Amino acid sequence: METTTLKQDIIVSPLSEMLTFNGTYGNYGGSYIPDVLTKPLEDLANMFDSLVKDPSFNKEYIHYLKQFVGRPSPLYYAKRLSEYVGSTIYLKREDLNHTGSHKINNCIGQILVAKRMGAKEIIAETGAGQHGVAAATAAALMGIPCKVFMGAKDIKRQALNVSRIKLLGAELIPTEMGTATLKDAVDIALGYYIDHPSSFYMLGSQVGPHPYPRMVGYFQSVIGQEARNQILNVEGRLPQAIFACIGGGSNAIGLFSGFLNDTEVQIYGAEGGGEATKENTAATLTFGKPTIFQGTYSYCLVDNEGNPIESHSIAAGLDYPGISPQHAYLKDSNRACYIPVTDNDAIDAFRLLSKLEGITPAIESSHAIALAAKVLKNKEMLAIINLSGRGDKDVDRDLEE
Ligand SMILES: *Cc1c(COP(=O)(O)O)cnc(C)c1O
Repeated sequence: METTTLKQDIIVSPLSEMLTFNGTYGNYGGSYIPDVLTKPLEDLANMFDSLVKDPSFNKEYIHYLKQFVGRPSPLYYAKRLSEYVGSTIYLKREDLNHTGSHKINNCIGQILVAKRMGAKEIIAETGAGQHGVAAATAAALMGIPCKVFMGAKDIKRQALNVSRIKLLGAELIPTEMGTATLKDAVDIALGYYIDHPSSFYMLGSQVGPHPYPRMVGYFQSVIGQEARNQILNVEGRLPQAIFACIGGGSNAIGLFSGFLNDTEVQIYGAEGGGEATKENTAATLTFGKPTIFQGTYSYCLVDNEGNPIESHSIAAGLDYPGISPQHAYLKDSNRACYIPVTDNDAIDAFRLLSKLEGITPAIESSHAIALAAKVLKNKEMLAIINLSGRGDKDVDRDLEE
């Protein structure tokens, strides 16, 4: 097992800055991988470091963000939600991106890295299917073959996204292992990568070994960069609070990274609380412990012996026992506050935003809305909520009244 030394490091990765970075966030992060992956991940880290300094790479990335994804996404003043809650609330509309969520920001970035590395094959894991769709889309855009690993249970409950992945020309590989959900899909994808280290592993969240947390954080930082400029333009001041839901942590770090240095901005992460008990939850930062899991050192849900356990959330995209090492660092340093939101509160918020604003959020994003509505109640605060995705995939699930 290869480990890096753990030491204090830079935590911001805005699109405009060029950083040298060894992959740790405080005590967290690093790279805990079998020897066969040491070289491929070092090559990837070196390639990424040189590409972020390459203006032609950033130009190409921004071209696809604008012309293919449809960025910048609007910062939308949610008037009726604001009146209902008693604060001034803006929604960062990642739901309006091509393919319906923030995942595409990262996939466009990674496919351009893969292309420059001459990758012959893309591999990706998926839970709810949003990352599978975004990865298959990016692979189709560049004409690179793509394999998507998905748990058999998720394949059954996310039929719409399964059809989309196939239509986009990707090969869907089901796994029956374990609970046949996201954690198992990641294990199988990592196993395939270990056997085929010349493939390009397109990781969907801010997790896994270095350089993935940094790379994903960088490609998602466009959310926070835009939101900060947009709120300053329209309100002439920074928000007092910002909110995002937390699965692995990629949409949240995207928004948060724009405001980390603005110490007056309160930062809130909404975890998939499930029933908010130790036995039934996906709230990793609330109920987990620091552990090595799937290539990185961060919080993880574990049993009494310290072994990673299954998570539970109504939102497939939040249903993961691990979490980004950067969020672990932000929690321990008290820069951000992480609070579990129960399944039932998320369902209420899913209905509330649909009726008040004519916007049906993903059930994942609904967790952020529920938390914001609670924290901001009658506080007359200025706030931004990241609407990480649209709820089309969730309307069939009897969540309506
Ligand atoms: C995947 C997903 C999430 C959770 O993943 P993060 O990496 O924590 O952002 C949240 N919302 C939507 C819509 C998703 O598709």
